[in-house]
Amino acid sequence: MRAFVGVGANLGDRWAWLALAARALRATPGVAVVRGSRVWDSAPLGPPQPRYLNAVLELETTLPPRALLAALQAVERQARRRRDVRWGARTLDLDLLLFGDAVVAGPGLLVPHPELGARRFALQPLAELCGERVVPGTGRTVAELLAAAPAWELRDVGGYPG
Ligand code: ATP
Ligand code: CA
Ligand code: CA
Repeated sequence: MRAFVGVGANLGDRWAWLALAARALRATPGVAVVRGSRVWDSAPLGPPQPRYLNAVLELETTLPPRALLAALQAVERQARRRRDVRWGARTLDLDLLLFGDAVVAGPGLLVPHPELGARRFALQPLAELCGERVVPGTGRTVAELLAAAPAWELRDVGGYPG
C-alpha cells in the first residue's frame, strides 16, 4: 500500500530529525521509503513555539494502518520525543496523512488525517508528491484542497535530507 506521512520538527536540530525519520523508516521491516518532498519552514500551529520544518515522506508498505502508526510512534520515540502539551513543540511528529484509498476511523487512528484540508504546511509537500490523488471522503484531489486551504506562512528551504 502507498502511504504518505507528514513529518514535522521544531526542536533541536530539525534537519537531523527529518533525516532520522527517513533512515529509521527505511530500517523498518515492511516499509520502503519511496521519496521525500521538499522541506518547508513554516509558522507554528498552536501555542507559541519555534518554527517548524515540514515535509512528507511517501512510503510503500505491507503493514496494516495500525501497525504503521505504531512504527511511526516508535520512530518518534527514537527522536526522544516527549509528549506533554497538545500541539506543543516536539523534536519529531509523524502523522499518517493518507493510506492508499482507505478511510480509517477508529480509536486512536483517523485517516485521512482529519486536519489535512486545513493545513497548507501538510498539503503543500503532499501536493508535490501526489497532487492528483483524490483524498478519500472529500471528493477532492490534494491539489484542489491545497488551492482551497487557508493561507499559511511557508518557505521552501531545500530537498529532503538523507
Ligand atoms: P494533530 O493530530 O492535530 O496533528 P499532534 O500531531 O500534535 O496533533 P499527537 O500528540 O502527535 O498529536 O498525537 C495524538 C494522537 O493522535 C496519537 O496518539 C494518535 O493515536 C492519534 N492519531 C489519530 N489519527 C492519527 C494519524 N492519522 N496519524 C497520527 N496520529 C494519529
Ligand atoms: Ca501533527
Ligand atoms: Ca502526531
